[in-house]
Amino acid sequence: MQLVEPLLAWHPELTAIRRDLHAHPELGFEEQRTSDVVARNLESWGIPIHRGLAGTGVVGIIQGDAGEGPAIGLRADMDALPMQEANTFAHASQNPGRMHACGHDGHTTMLLGAARYLAQHRDFKGIVYVIFQPAEEGGGGAARMIQEGLFEKFPMAAVFGMHNWPGLPMGTFGLTPGAIMGSSNEFAIVLRGRGAHAAMPHLGADPVIAAVQLAQSLQSIVTRNKNPADTAVLSITQIHAGSADNVIPNEAVLRGTVRTFATAPLDLIERRMREIAEHTAAAFDVQCEFSFHRNYPPTINHAPESAFAAEVLREMVGSDAVDADVVPSMGAEDFAFMLEKVPGCYIWAGAGDGAHRAEGHGMGPCMLHNGSYDFNDEMIPLGSSYWVRLVQAWSKAGGVRK
Ligand SMILES: [Zn+2]
Ligand SMILES: [Zn+2]
Repeated sequence: MQLVEPLLAWHPELTAIRRDLHAHPELGFEEQRTSDVVARNLESWGIPIHRGLAGTGVVGIIQGDAGEGPAIGLRADMDALPMQEANTFAHASQNPGRMHACGHDGHTTMLLGAARYLAQHRDFKGIVYVIFQPAEEGGGGAARMIQEGLFEKFPMAAVFGMHNWPGLPMGTFGLTPGAIMGSSNEFAIVLRGRGAHAAMPHLGADPVIAAVQLAQSLQSIVTRNKNPADTAVLSITQIHAGSADNVIPNEAVLRGTVRTFATAPLDLIERRMREIAEHTAAAFDVQCEFSFHRNYPPTINHAPESAFAAEVLREMVGSDAVDADVVPSMGAEDFAFMLEKVPGCYIWAGAGDGAHRAEGHGMGPCMLHNGSYDFNDEMIPLGSSYWVRLVQAWSKAGGVRK
């Protein structure tokens, strides 16, 4: 393994930063303390910073001294989740109902390690922008940073992201050109009928029977309308109606999520859902109110940058430890917004099976968004080294697209 030497020496210090962040988790757009920790460290290493994009966002500007070259962006997320930590070890969350259960504490730390190294070894061309973003977990912090001028203030030829991935062995990496994460979309369908006595249904219009029919019919979109070559999932996760055994209610509500790896099947699914909902409602003599919210687009890696990242990883950890054709996940990721604007690649870094957890962890598995999760500190030198090697290779090649 070709790790960057000082990063191994800094491992204890970086682990301390990671555990401090873990103990002080903050929700999206509220990462004030986290943002301060990031800013303070960057400044202490002589890195000029810009603060305030999307509120708590921080961008560090590291100018190489080997001449002109295309700029590169490296991105980490900083926010935690609104959930209770089940772990009781020393660095467990001190903020009730808040937890770093997705490893963004580790992502922030790995990028800090790389920034420190790059600030001390500026033998690269062009500029490296280290981007610390708020609110990945549903808040769309990346989209807000872009709206507030991220790519105008800091023009870059490519941007790269990384997420720790439990289940992939530690020391291995996964990526794929094209879609690696799904789009995330929520829908709500309100069916308004006319309530009645349950013994006299002919005097009302029953929204419950319409909801049941609709729940069945919507699944036909995935099997009958969508191209079988496209991937999509439509899950109805809530049906609410009624309050008594002998009352036909006025209203029934269906809610759920749609996930896809591309926008075209999503457009089709949204259109067919609306049509089926409206026509089913009409068939049962009830009114329909349909709403569909597109949360995150699919995360689509660009092929040249993906090939470049894969090569950097192979040189670092060996070909056997890099799967450059992973099966994508239907989870969503707001790095997708950055990849819509600028070419780049998002990778998964193997986090192992959870055996790294310190004594006092919860009973649950070490999976993302589980109360017993903890970021694997053994990954820190690996993740930081990837960022450094990526910049070095980028500088040597003069970027990916000439
Ligand atoms: Zn997450
Ligand atoms: Zn995450």
